Amino acid sequence: MNNILTEASACLQCKNSRCRQACPIHTNIPEMIRKLRNHEVMDAAQMLFENNPLSIVCSLVCDHEKQCEGACVRGIKGDPVAISDIEQYISNSCFERIQLSMEPENGMRAAVIGAGPAGLTIAVALRQKGYKVTVFEVREKIGGIMRYGIPEYRLPRSILDRYYKKLKALGIQFRPNMAIGGAVSIQDLLDDGYSSVFIGTGAWKPRRLNIPGETFGNVQYAVNYLNNPDVYDLGENVAVIGAGNAAMDAARTAIRKGSRNVTVYVRSNSATASDEEVEYAKIDGVQFVFNKAPVRITDEGVVLADTQKDENGKTVMIEGTENFVKVDTVLVAISQVPQTRLVTRDPDLQLNERGNLKIDDLGSTTMPGVFASGDVVTGAKTVVHAVALSRQIAEEMDRYMKGQAGTAKSSASE
Ligand code: SF4
Repeated sequence: MNNILTEASACLQCKNSRCRQACPIHTNIPEMIRKLRNHEVMDAAQMLFENNPLSIVCSLVCDHEKQCEGACVRGIKGDPVAISDIEQYISNSCFERIQLSMEPENGMRAAVIGAGPAGLTIAVALRQKGYKVTVFEVREKIGGIMRYGIPEYRLPRSILDRYYKKLKALGIQFRPNMAIGGAVSIQDLLDDGYSSVFIGTGAWKPRRLNIPGETFGNVQYAVNYLNNPDVYDLGENVAVIGAGNAAMDAARTAIRKGSRNVTVYVRSNSATASDEEVEYAKIDGVQFVFNKAPVRITDEGVVLADTQKDENGKTVMIEGTENFVKVDTVLVAISQVPQTRLVTRDPDLQLNERGNLKIDDLGSTTMPGVFASGDVVTGAKTVVHAVALSRQIAEEMDRYMKGQAGTAKSSASE
């Protein structure tokens, strides 16, 4: 980590700060730095948390090179201000002491399904607005993709444990190991008096390659592997198919768990993961081979073909270029889509043509009173995008619930 005060002193306090504009959640970066310089660190932390309850997480896992730091005016002729380090220092050192502004209890209940980035953001926002909030989580601990998808070396689990304590102290209730869509449906929640339900169940179903051999015992999906890498034995030689951030996480984890030769095969000529993640993967020893697409998997490895762009700019395989690569494990990491359990149980919920939950511009699903955001709506995206969208949806849920309560009151007085 850079020296925080030296970094803070390099900030030019730009009026139209490019760093802030480039942040998906528009963190007031110059103000954060100004407060740090003035030794008002608690104020800075308070401001960060009110704007983004997952500030500590974002300071660690955001793609800063493409966002705030990539836009910093200091970066034009030299190094940008180390914004992520400053945010990390402030939010991490003050987290336990932050006192959130809370409206009085309003007597209404809201249910949140899924304790990932979207669900936790909504839970905090609605709790602050005075709702009694219950979070239902299918796994034993909170965090969703932050705990069961992002490796420990990028995001220590202790941070998520601190969130659990903090959110419990705010009065948010948690029901772990509870799958809504199983014994209990969304309609059951509404029937039980929840004024609104939020779905933030993420995207956990791996997208398939749809090639022969994909069901064999030497194939693993990255999203499942990252869930609990210790229960897998991938062997010495691993082929990773896909080049997004999940692919980098899986490849780097495989190296850390003892695989010696880990190669990422990329369909096009560039990776979709952040430059920083690709760079770190290379430093870890991960190899990259571009313009290769898998054709079929055998018990001994994977057959790959060369690719090129056709006249429409689409990446296509070149016939006759098939090549067999011997590996112990093929790790498939080409994206995830939501599970369909909720939709099956509550048929009023519909999916869009891409397999994500269908919502309107205000975050409403096709089931009245039920809202959604995060990966279940957008497909697998980043933590900060889930937080940014969820904050808007929390406003809509608040409007909806207060509107419903107003309607009920006026019909009772008629
Ligand atoms: Fe400071 Fe860079 Fe943001 Fe300007 S763009 S306010 S120098 S961090």
